[in-house]
Amino acid sequence: MQTLKPHAALLASPGMGHLIPVMELGKCLAVHHGFDVTVFVVAPASSIEESPIFSSASAPNQLELVLLPLIDISGLVDSTTSIVTQLVIMMREALPSLRAAISAMRARPTALVVDLFGTEALAVAEEFDMLKYVFITSTARFLAATIHLPTMDVKAQHEHRILKKPWEIPGLEPVRFEDTFDLFVNQTDKSLYAEYTRIGREIPTADGILVNTWQDLEPSTLHALEDGKLLGRVTKAPVYTVGPLVRPVGPNSESEVMNWLDMQPVESVIYVSFGSGGTLSAEQTTELAWGLELSQQRFVWVVRPPMDGDASANFFNVSNSQDGTPNYLPEGFYTRTSDRGVVVPMWAPQTEILAHKSVGGFVSHCGWNSTLESIVNGVPMVAWPLYAEQGMNAAMLVEKLGMAVRSRTRPAGGVIGREEIADVARNIMGPKGNGMRTRAKELQRGATAAICKGGSSHNSLTQVAKECEIKLHSLSAKALGA
Ligand code: UDP
Repeated sequence: MQTLKPHAALLASPGMGHLIPVMELGKCLAVHHGFDVTVFVVAPASSIEESPIFSSASAPNQLELVLLPLIDISGLVDSTTSIVTQLVIMMREALPSLRAAISAMRARPTALVVDLFGTEALAVAEEFDMLKYVFITSTARFLAATIHLPTMDVKAQHEHRILKKPWEIPGLEPVRFEDTFDLFVNQTDKSLYAEYTRIGREIPTADGILVNTWQDLEPSTLHALEDGKLLGRVTKAPVYTVGPLVRPVGPNSESEVMNWLDMQPVESVIYVSFGSGGTLSAEQTTELAWGLELSQQRFVWVVRPPMDGDASANFFNVSNSQDGTPNYLPEGFYTRTSDRGVVVPMWAPQTEILAHKSVGGFVSHCGWNSTLESIVNGVPMVAWPLYAEQGMNAAMLVEKLGMAVRSRTRPAGGVIGREEIADVARNIMGPKGNGMRTRAKELQRGATAAICKGGSSHNSLTQVAKECEIKLHSLSAKALGA
């Protein structure tokens, strides 16, 4: 008799922060849980061809990557359209190609797994009688906030949005206004709030919600999500903690920055990066450069041309000073810091850097993938949130997990000055950072245990695999009876 093998179709929305964890989930299902996997990626073809993340060497045989063409949405957006709304529109426009691709498959997948921006595709899963799951590539806290949003009454919204009172979510610590989502702050994109609450309503209609976290990291929030007296009445679907799913260190990590790290003392280097999209203002970039210089710490800084709201296009015609310093960094910065710092333009091999023994601290925008990469390497952080749910992540890292420090000045509230930057950099790397370092290493051990065989996250995916096998058998029995 032929063995039935579950087949999961995963749908990833554009952006490295979404593609990376979806790919890792796909690999994990294929390698450890006996699935065939198809990952549908909504992205420009060039991003796939160029990215090492999608190289055939890093993907197992059981995983197939299918590109869904990115439709031109320029006629559907204008200058006020937020990134979230743009992502939602891109995913909506990709639905017909997803439907056509699934319909053309010889064997229909057993389950469809979508990320936050793909929840409209849950209806496609229903059309094809597939199980449907949502994969939250962030925290359980973020999931809780998102599904709570549609249940908020007008008074609560007014108190948070207009009066800037903390956001009360059943069973969770209140979210301070300064740490809140963009959608409470962005007053110009009229569709943002409606789209986001729609997503919050659609998530609980799934057969299961997968979250890139683990039981011991967020026990109270996970309890709130299950407890019928708290959020359990809105969650409805079972919540599966499946993390930390992070990109492993590549086999060939030879590069200038890695060679430089090889020559530095253990845990002596602070790594500075704001994710795949984070960009600072010109003034903030200057202050950060001076701050790193004043701190006297060794550093690796992934630097991007600054972006000011009112900067003219010419601003990006970057030229260099005599020592090669781009003109958006202080004159002579390269010369003065060449003995202890490396500047990497645009993109660095982050997982490799954070795994390097010389790295002892991470100045981060607190995107969840970056945060997980820091935790799995036991590296304490300086939390510097910029947008999306990063403020909530920062609050959790500092106040609940005790593995990060934060500046007194909030990035949203103004420019963080050089002295303060120098101060936090010295703190995290010096004796004051020892407590955070110890905590980061404790969390690292918990993270490793969760994904090992028998760990809570491994068990969650085993459970999902069982559900898929049951579905597969019922489909095949139906087909035989027909
Ligand atoms: N990343 C990288 N090199 C860079 C910047 C980012 O490899 O120079 C990777 C990083 O390791 C992480 C992802 O891009 O896996 C960024 O995801 P995250 O959730 O941290 O932030 P986002 O980019 O979504 O804001």
